Amino acid sequence: MSEKESFRMKSKPPLVPLGTLIRRELRHGNVEKPSVNHGQAALAKKGEDYFLIKPDCQRVPGNPSTSFSVFAIFDGHNGISAAIFAKENLLNNILSAIPQGCDREEWLQALPRALVAGFVKTDIEFQQKGETSGTTVTFVVIDGWTITVASVGDSRCILDTQAGVVSLLTVDHRLEENIEERERVTASGGEVGRLNIFGGDGVGPLRCWPGGLCLSRSIGDTDVGEFIVPIPHVKQVKLSSSGGRLIIASDGIWDALSSDVAAQSCRGLPAELAAKLVVKEALRSRGLKDDTTCLVVDIIPYGYPVLPPTPRKKQNLLTSLILGKKYQNSTNKAPNKLSAVGVVEELFEEGSAVLAERLGKDLALNSNSGMFRCAVCQVDHDDVPSSQPWEGPMLCSKCRRKKDAMEGKRST
Ligand SMILES: [Zn+2]
Repeated sequence: MSEKESFRMKSKPPLVPLGTLIRRELRHGNVEKPSVNHGQAALAKKGEDYFLIKPDCQRVPGNPSTSFSVFAIFDGHNGISAAIFAKENLLNNILSAIPQGCDREEWLQALPRALVAGFVKTDIEFQQKGETSGTTVTFVVIDGWTITVASVGDSRCILDTQAGVVSLLTVDHRLEENIEERERVTASGGEVGRLNIFGGDGVGPLRCWPGGLCLSRSIGDTDVGEFIVPIPHVKQVKLSSSGGRLIIASDGIWDALSSDVAAQSCRGLPAELAAKLVVKEALRSRGLKDDTTCLVVDIIPYGYPVLPPTPRKKQNLLTSLILGKKYQNSTNKAPNKLSAVGVVEELFEEGSAVLAERLGKDLALNSNSGMFRCAVCQVDHDDVPSSQPWEGPMLCSKCRRKKDAMEGKRST
C-alpha cells in the first residue's frame, strides 16, 4: 500500500475495517446499532400492489433507543380492499399481541407468535366486512441486527449477505410448487386442480376450487374457503455486524428474476437506486405482465454511509451458486445454509398451518383484571369457554370458530 493510500484510509476516522467490527462483536457480544437505509420502486399493471414503510417505530413510545423498522408488501388479487385493509391494520394487530413491559430480548422472542396472532386477527376482521378480495403479505421487522419475516402468499424476501450468500427468508405458498400445502388444502376440504376449459388436460398452474386461487395462504379470500389460511411462515435471523441487504418484492419480480440474479443486479449500489434497477431488470427480462413492486433495505454497520464492499472470492460465488441450486429442489423449508457459512445466526423458523403449534399453550392471565386474554384477538374474557379443552392456548368463541374452520372442521 502506498503512503498516499494509507493516508487516505487513516484520514477517514469513522470507517472501521470490517474485520475489526466482527472481532469487536465477538469480544463484546454486540456493537452499535446498524443504520437501516431503504429504497422503493414499482411499476403498476393492475394497481393491486401496496407497500408499507415505517422506518422509526418504537417498542417503548417516546424512547428512541427502542426503535425498530417495518417494511411490508401486499400484493392484492380480485380487488384491492384486502391489501389496503392489511396495510392499515396489520401492524397494530401484531404489536397489540406482544405482552407489555418486555425488554428487548423478550420482545424479539414474543414477535413470532404475535405475528401469527396479528395475521389471523386481521383476516377475521377483514372477513367481517363481507368483501371478497385477498392479498399476499410479506412483513419484515428489523430491530438492530435481528430480522424477522412473516409471510403468506408468494411475495418473497431474500437476504444478500456480505459473504456473498443469497438466501430466501420466505416460503412460496403456491399450490403448484408446494406439495405440503396442496395436501393440507385437500385434507381440509379444498379441491386442487388446473383450469379446464377444453375438457381435456387442465391448463395453467394448480388452483384451488371454487375460486381458482393459485395461492394456499393469504389474508382475505373469504369466498374461496377457510383452508386458504392467513397463518404466516415466520423466520427470524441475526446478521453478523458486516450487515446485509434485503430485497422484498411481489411476484412480478420473482417470476422474472431468480434470487441470485436480483441480488447480483444491484450489488454495490445505494438502496434507492438498487430498487429501481431490480424493477428495470425484471421489466427487461419479461416485460410488464404483472404489478411489480420492490423494496430494498440495507442494514449497514454503524459509521458506514452504504454497505461496505466485501472482497468476493471465487470460492464464495461458487458456494452460493451450489447452495442456490440445492434450495430450488426443496419444497417448503430453506436448508440451514446461512449459519453453515457463519454469516447469519438462525434464531427461529416455523411454517406450520396449525394454530395450536404456533401460539403456544399458555393461558394468558391478565394480572390486573384476573381475566383470560384470547391469544388471537387479545380481548379479555372472564372465564374459559367450557368447550375449551384442546392442545392450544385460550381462544374466545369467535377465534375458536375461525380455528376450526381453517382446519376444515366447520365453515364460518
Ligand atoms: Zn379472540
